[in-house]
Amino acid sequence: MTIPELLSGTSVVLPKTFYRFVKYDIELLNKDESLGTNSILYSFNVYGSSRGKVFTTHLFFYGGLQGNQPTLKSHLRVSCNCEAYRFFWKNADYENEAHFGKIDAWGKVRGVVRNPDQIPGICKHIMACLYGLCERNEVVGGRSLLSYF
Ligand SMILES: [Zn+2]
Repeated sequence: MTIPELLSGTSVVLPKTFYRFVKYDIELLNKDESLGTNSILYSFNVYGSSRGKVFTTHLFFYGGLQGNQPTLKSHLRVSCNCEAYRFFWKNADYENEAHFGKIDAWGKVRGVVRNPDQIPGICKHIMACLYGLCERNEVVGGRSLLSYF
């Protein structure tokens, strides 16, 4: 899945009538280009959610890179340790090769409840990280997407 595809899937499952983009504070923990050729793994802490929780996201881009930068055509695998990601997206993303990491059997059962059509998408923490990457010109062409968040 690409960034545009994941944004599109998210808006199908969670229409903007009840889903609002939140520009959380994000902290880049690591940028790892050693996992394979033509790939970059970004890891973030995401702050500012209710109850002061800190979430950790992973965004793994592979293929379609320009130099050492992801593009809108790069494939993307994501993960977040929040409940929303687990319930809405984890299994759907896994089934669509957009989840970064493993998934257990129980995760598969849960994943079908909130997102029965298994449309891949992202939680608001991953969304804030993607927005940050696009806004900071880390993603080639990313600034053209900012109005879609
Ligand atoms: Zn999340």
